Amino acid sequence: MSPRILSLLAPLLALPQALPAQVPAGDAPITAADLRPHIDSLASDAFEGRQPATPGEALTTNYLSRALAARGVEPAGPDGSWLQPVAIVERGVGRHETRWVANGRRIAVADEALVLTSRDPRARIASAPVVFAGHGAVMPDRGIDQLAGADFRGAVALVLYEGPAVDGFPSFQQRIAALAEAGAVAVIGITAPDLPFAQVRRAATQGAVALDGGPLPAAYGVISWDAAMALFEGAGRDLQAMLNEQPGSSFRSVSLPVRAGIDVMTEVRRYTTNNVVGRIRGSAGGGESVLLLGHWDHVGICRPEGAPDRICNGAVDNASGMATLVEAAGRLGAGARPQRDILILATTAEEIGLLGAEHFARNPVVPSGSIVAAVNVDTAAIHPAGMPVAMIGGTAEMRAVAGRVASGLGRHLDADQEADLLAERQDGWALVRNGIPAMMAGGSFSDMRLLVAFLNGAYHGPDDEASDSLELAGAAEDATLLVALARAFADPAAYQPAAR
Ligand SMILES: [Zn+2]
Repeated sequence: MSPRILSLLAPLLALPQALPAQVPAGDAPITAADLRPHIDSLASDAFEGRQPATPGEALTTNYLSRALAARGVEPAGPDGSWLQPVAIVERGVGRHETRWVANGRRIAVADEALVLTSRDPRARIASAPVVFAGHGAVMPDRGIDQLAGADFRGAVALVLYEGPAVDGFPSFQQRIAALAEAGAVAVIGITAPDLPFAQVRRAATQGAVALDGGPLPAAYGVISWDAAMALFEGAGRDLQAMLNEQPGSSFRSVSLPVRAGIDVMTEVRRYTTNNVVGRIRGSAGGGESVLLLGHWDHVGICRPEGAPDRICNGAVDNASGMATLVEAAGRLGAGARPQRDILILATTAEEIGLLGAEHFARNPVVPSGSIVAAVNVDTAAIHPAGMPVAMIGGTAEMRAVAGRVASGLGRHLDADQEADLLAERQDGWALVRNGIPAMMAGGSFSDMRLLVAFLNGAYHGPDDEASDSLELAGAAEDATLLVALARAFADPAAYQPAAR
């Protein structure tokens, strides 16, 4: 589970024990004893909290690929490997100097009125032309191309940072990418007059972590509205008037009579980490897949030297999900062959922004569009057996199938939608925003009291470890549900995805 503060706070209540669920003939139910050894290994101190690009990564990916291979799963990464490399870049806060000149006269722009980051450790841009690109939006399906009308090669592009609330309007990040592809060496967003710039600066001091690669200009960032107004004025232009002259989507880029010099230095750290990807071949041979996933990574050594326990072991978050995935793969690999292929994905870098899942969604190892359903497993071991099944995300078609499958196992369905609070904090979100239908289904999200007790307790701390008190009865029941769900989603007669 990726971090975000949840404001709910409620006491942990005792819950009634329920009868064990029934399972269909064929798949033996997954038990707590099946799950336990995986959690004991993955959450042991030897794995050092499974932080990407640490020794714990290799231990973890080796463990998972061996466990999957032993259960009849084949590697499905590039070149027959279990590993799909994911390139990550971390950038600190940039330090910058800028120089703006119009008609041979320097226009003063205070350093504090800008936040700039360089793509590489240093960006030096000398006397570049400056172009105002409106929002810098390109939306071919709507006939919008605000970059038309100017040459961006070698230019500093100024754009309005906030986009209008229009469906499908490109994000600032997407507009930066489009401008970089058009040749811009820097893209600077002008923040709205009502956005306190001190807040923007504060947000930027945290630095940023992202997938590496893709088009980026040498430098990018934001400038305050007031500083941008002054800059335009210094060049003999009126920012507001220019917007009024070309309202809305009709805007065409305008060159400003300004040259810009920009020098930015940023601490940049690049590294590669890995998703683990496997496949169980289906009998249908239609090229369609069902994806079962969970994140293997956790937050690593999380306390300073000298602390009594320095390792955040991540037993619940998410060794429990890995144990579930491995044992579910075992049942699917050993029992009746599923019809559609089953892909097994253990993602990296979930804790720093769902980055492994995002990379996979952009680079699925199968043709895009052939993954008919994905089920994510995260934070599976906090509840006893007998909890209702809560669902997060999923299309109406998926939820209908999941409801039938859960009921068939004797499980009740959660009546409220509280679990949706977590929708954006789990890997399925990265899949959904890239067009892959994804859901979670299980008991660990159906009682907010249990979940909040965990989030306010051991979550992301040294106490999330493989102690004897780990509650695995509910996790086992949910793992059995996952096997049945995978079989149903893999059966074309039981499930067809919504038309896309
Ligand atoms: Zn987490």
